[in-house]
Amino acid sequence: MPTIAFVNGRFLPINRATVSIEDRGFQFGDGVYEVVRSYNGRLFHLDAHLDRLEQSARGIRLPIRYSHAYWRRLVTRAFAMSGFADAKVYLQVTRGPAPREHRFPNTVRPTVVVTVRRLDPLSASVREQGVTAITVPDLRWGRCDVKSLNLLANVLAREEARAAGVFEAILVRDGVVTEGAISNCFAVIGGTVVTSPTDPSILPGITRAVTLELIRCEGFPLEQRVVTVEEYRRADEIFLTGTTIEIVSVVSLDGAKVGTGSPGPVAQTLYRRLGDVIDAECPRAVVPLKSRNAGRRRRT
Ligand code: PMP
Repeated sequence: MPTIAFVNGRFLPINRATVSIEDRGFQFGDGVYEVVRSYNGRLFHLDAHLDRLEQSARGIRLPIRYSHAYWRRLVTRAFAMSGFADAKVYLQVTRGPAPREHRFPNTVRPTVVVTVRRLDPLSASVREQGVTAITVPDLRWGRCDVKSLNLLANVLAREEARAAGVFEAILVRDGVVTEGAISNCFAVIGGTVVTSPTDPSILPGITRAVTLELIRCEGFPLEQRVVTVEEYRRADEIFLTGTTIEIVSVVSLDGAKVGTGSPGPVAQTLYRRLGDVIDAECPRAVVPLKSRNAGRRRRT
């Protein structure tokens, strides 16, 4: 089966899937999206992602005619058709095609796209060593809580990270760390886990929400507050969270060692606990026959 796409009610091979050049997603980035992943043939936290998609759509006043239940069936079907055990499902809704004009069209016909691709997880060695990051100015708009298609500032930040030979760009606004270009950020300072408050300067990450819960369960002191980049530079640990990267330690920031220069104990504990949550929701037993990259690596 070639990689499949769903476009406005039809499933077809991705190379035959097209939308209009007048689509407002293409013209203005006028739309929202989600990325959901699976483990062992099951979608992880699908409802949380669908809730956030609906919230993002409300944030840009985009009426979505699909109910939550319809999305659930659609995504589950697309995922099943792909045959991948470990997949990345991309959902996108735009304000649809209309002659180019900034104001909303009178009649909105949203464009809905779903694609399913095989997920290449972070390699075990990268995870064991930790990743590197640089800080870059946060040039994004004021509604980063909306998962909108306007990703140009994130794209430029990621490219800067690549040019610097590091994994992630950590975004800084007025001396304060907001989040990563593709991740949420946490630091451990004197035994307390600190991270940005849930406000419009960050995306309310699904992995972040799970991680916050795990921090509470583990009894680690937690502060959700403004955290300066200078605090991050002095932190004992820094870690990132995200759907595709899970929880990963940052061991170098702007070329300087973070803590001991190795993944720290808090991030390692949380990563193991996240593994328990994943194993409970996506048990290993349901790997489909056609799986190409079946099975999670074992967590220790
Ligand atoms: N912040 C940004 C800017 C992101 O792009 C992502 C990845 N979607 C995240 C945070 C992490 O969110 P989640 O855990 O829902 O993947």
